[in-house]
Formats: sequence, structure tokens, C-alpha cells
Amino acid sequence: MNFNQFALSERITKAAADAGYTQPTPIQERAIPKILKGADVIGIAQTGTGKTAAFSLPILSMLSELSGQSEERHLKMLIIAPTRELADQIHANIRVFCKYTNLRSGAVFGGVSDKGQINKLNSGADIIIATPGRLIDLIKAGHGQFSKLKHLVIDEADRMLDMGFIPDIRSIVKKLPKSRQTLLFSATFTPQVEHLVKEFLHSPTVVEVGNRSDPAKTVTQVIYKVEPHQKQSHLIELIESSHEFFSVIVFARTRAGAEELGKALKKAKLDCEYIHGERSQGQRRRAIDDFKSNKLQILVATDVAARGIDIQDVSHVINYDFPENNEDYIHRIGRTGRANQSGDAITFVSSRDLLSLQRLEKFIQRTLPTKRLAGFNYAAPPSEPTSTTRKAGSRSNSNSPSRSPRHYRAKEKTYTARKKPSQRSQSRSRQNGSRKPKG
Ligand code: AMP
Repeated sequence: MNFNQFALSERITKAAADAGYTQPTPIQERAIPKILKGADVIGIAQTGTGKTAAFSLPILSMLSELSGQSEERHLKMLIIAPTRELADQIHANIRVFCKYTNLRSGAVFGGVSDKGQINKLNSGADIIIATPGRLIDLIKAGHGQFSKLKHLVIDEADRMLDMGFIPDIRSIVKKLPKSRQTLLFSATFTPQVEHLVKEFLHSPTVVEVGNRSDPAKTVTQVIYKVEPHQKQSHLIELIESSHEFFSVIVFARTRAGAEELGKALKKAKLDCEYIHGERSQGQRRRAIDDFKSNKLQILVATDVAARGIDIQDVSHVINYDFPENNEDYIHRIGRTGRANQSGDAITFVSSRDLLSLQRLEKFIQRTLPTKRLAGFNYAAPPSEPTSTTRKAGSRSNSNSPSRSPRHYRAKEKTYTARKKPSQRSQSRSRQNGSRKPKG
């Protein structure tokens, strides 16, 4: 199947082709025809499956057919996403898809000035991509003309629930015309999501891709059993143990944890930045841009901050802190192994996480193999100095070879000269030659 076989407008098909979209992904193949028919659709798909194009292309196609007619600009499509980064990313996609049309779009989210956003909301755009918090603030201030809106998309609905956004969404939806098309996307279909569906959608069709508890098939998943006092030094030694760790997202559970770890890795002269909800929009965007453009090797993030970010070519996801729930695990490891590339998901498991591990393995219906890092002293007691208590440059444990500042400089140099993504994929497939084929 290719994109020409959908009844999408020529302008949208051409823009998608320019962006390298030739063959639709399974969610696109199934959702696009239904959305084009005007149905309300529930899309159950993990991150990285191409869901943004699945909901954008058909609606933009319908809107672009109208945009040829000389009607004044008004808001026709609203996309609500849980985080600024995701809203920004969807907006970037929409702009690419709209390049041969007269459609105008705008993003509305917190952390930046609202001036341009107000203009966009007040008849300056056909499509708005918004986070619930900023949008509701602007609506309360009297902005936004929604009376002619035709399409609503609620993205990452399960995460909206986790983040407590439902009351905001409810208030927003009250402002919208009842006769509209509503699409709801979610990585998981929990009873709470089902409840939302009943509230916001009308006789929806469900499009589900893959087993909802089955993580992306292209990801190799392993665990390392490490106690909390050893996690920092274990992480550092693990990353330094191989050049395969060229693009790593490390997940911490809390903002404070992400910050502490990010600072410790920086202190250890690793090429790292950290993002969490209390960092400014500029800091978050810079870190993500640098990571995406391969200027940065390691990104430490909380679940919320990393939510939905489309970062290609991530070599490893490391669950430094065990995910709070099974869905978070699926979301986290969905950052790697995207677009059918191989990827590795590593989870640190301490003795206090064993019960959660049991639950996770039941959920994903597989036992995660345990690996050990050669030369690491897993028996080191908590009283022994660890990376948290040592000064940078003297963090290796008693069983590891001692490292001089020169060692770090040498490492730094290697990372600066990291291979380009295309070379990496080749070298990764070579290095992965002994692995079982994925997918
Ligand atoms: P998403 O799940 O929407 O975040 O998409 C994941 C990544 O896959 C993004 O980088 C998209 O640009 C890319 N992508 C989505 N659909 C296609 C397609 N049909 N062909 C090629 N790339 C795609």
C-alpha cells in the first residue's frame, strides 16, 4: 500500500512524500480511511508508530479542499497534547504537511509569551495545537473562537489522565460545537480512557495497532540488578563500557532525581543534559534540540518531560529508576527502536523493585534477561563511597580500574567525534550481527 491509494488531497500527499512518507504505517493504513469518512476514531498505538500523521493527514486533507475556497480564516481543528514538547513536535509535523496549502497553524503552550498565541487563537489560524493548561488560561481570558471548529484531536489521552488534565479538557470541550469529529489517541486503553471515550466521542471506531501490552518489537530489553547506592557509578561505567551508547535517554522518576543525576553525570565529564518540568522552556528545548542533532550524548529526563518526544536514532533507553507503572515502561522504551530500527532498553532493578518487576513481566508476558557489567563490584556495601559521595574523577569502585582525568578527556574526545547517524546504523547493525533478528 502507498499514500496515493488513500483518498487524500494531492497537496497533502505531495507534502507527505517530500517528508519521506511513502508507505503508510499500520496505524495510518487503518485509521486514515476511517477518519476521511468522518468517523470518530479511537487510536490505540504506542509512540513511534506514526500516529501523528495518522490523525493529521486525513483532517488536513479535508481542510485543504476547503481552504481553496475564499472563506475567512477561523479555527477548524484543535489538537490537544499533554506536554509542550509534544505540542511543538506535532506543530512541526503539521507545518510540513501543510506546505502546499493555505492552511495556517499555531501552537499554544506555557513557558513562552502568549502574545503571538492570542493572535493565532483569535482567527489567526486554521489549526491550533495546544497543551490544556495554557489553552484554558487563554480561554478564561476571553480568547479563542471555536464556533466553527470541525475537528478535535486528543492525543496521549492516557497521559492526560495521569497528569490530571481531564477537568481542563472537559472545560475546553464544553466550548466546542457538539457536531464535530473527535479523535482520541492513547498508548494504552485503560478503563479510565474508556470512560473519556464515552464522554467525548460519538459511536467511535477503534483502531488498535499491536498488543497493547507488547512493547515495540524492535527493542532488546534487559535488566541489571543494582542497589540504589550503586546506580550512579553503575550507570557511568555502563555508558563508558561501549561506544554503542551514542545516544542515550536516561529516565529518572522525580524532578529532583533527574536534576541530581544530570549534575552528577556532568560532573563526571559525561556529555549530558537533563530536562524536567521545572526547567525553563528554553533549557528544555535546547537540550532536546542538541540531543536530536546528536550534539549531546545523554539526556536525563523525567517521564513527563520526555513524553511523546520524537527523537530518532536513540541507541539506548535506560530506566535508571524503575518506572512507576507498566504503561510508563512501554512509553519509555518506545523512545528507542523507532521506525523499525533496533534499540536497547536497559532497566536498573534494585531489591525494592522486585515486586514491580514481577508485575511488569506479567504485563509484557516475558521474562527480562539479567545482565551484569564486567568488572563492576555489585557486592559493594552502601557504606563504601559511591559516585554520589565521591568527587568527580575518582568515582570508580574498588574493583574497577582506576581512572585518571586523562581517561575522561580521552572519552570526551571520542564522544565529540561520534559517528553520524547513517554510519551508526550501519555499525550498529554490524555490532548487532550476533543478536537475534528483531521485529
Ligand atoms: P509518531 O508516532 O507520530 O511520533 O511518528 C514517529 C516517527 O515516524 C516520526 O519521526 C515520523 O516522522 C515518522 N513517520 C511516521 N509515519 C511515517 C511513514 N509513513 N513513513 C516514514 N516515516 C514516518
